[in-house]
Amino acid sequence: MNLLLAEDDAILADALTAQLQQAGFSVEHAPNGAVAEYLMLRRDFDAAVLDIGLPMVDGLTVLKHVRAVKPALPVLVLTALDGLDDRVAGLNAGADDYLTKPFDFPELEARLRALLRRTRPMPSPTPPADMGRLAFDRDARRASIDGNLLELSPREWDLLDLLLSQRNKVVHKEQITAAWTDDRNEAPNAPGMIEVYIHRLRRKLEGSGLSIRTVRGLGYLLEPESNPR
Ligand code: CA
Repeated sequence: MNLLLAEDDAILADALTAQLQQAGFSVEHAPNGAVAEYLMLRRDFDAAVLDIGLPMVDGLTVLKHVRAVKPALPVLVLTALDGLDDRVAGLNAGADDYLTKPFDFPELEARLRALLRRTRPMPSPTPPADMGRLAFDRDARRASIDGNLLELSPREWDLLDLLLSQRNKVVHKEQITAAWTDDRNEAPNAPGMIEVYIHRLRRKLEGSGLSIRTVRGLGYLLEPESNPR
């Protein structure tokens, strides 16, 4: 069983990870909402444990975004003791269950197992997205327009993958930075870096019927071209 654990309290996250692993789960940890959203959208987890109070993107926002794409993913939210509003908002945003901090580990484990039992069989993975004239095959890591292969650098690929996975929705700069961060590479943080890559990707997407719109102060949005040439 693959779990995503989104928790910014490092001590709690370490303890939970160790206990969950001991209980037989494999655990991926996200220390903030941007990483949590990125991982939940891009990987297949059997369930997610999502703290509501997360830095960068709060847990409720993460949940809403993920729910739109993955309606069947079981999500248990963690809320603060006095967070009645959070519990209600969490359930409204699509959480399957919640636990109030502090909690005992056996309770978390029991709730998770109950959630996993209730889960419908996982739907088959989404087929390669084919939008406009763009064909995108994530498994084969190939993107093409009208059969012409796009040459994309790894960062350009990650950027396109992120924009496509959230097409018609605003992708925040923090999410782009998170998408570029992995074990080996720090995300580039030079000012203007994201704009440079957006500019390059826009040029490569010419003729695809898709365009990347800048949403000032928020981020970017991939959408069908309003006036296709
Ligand atoms: Ca927190």
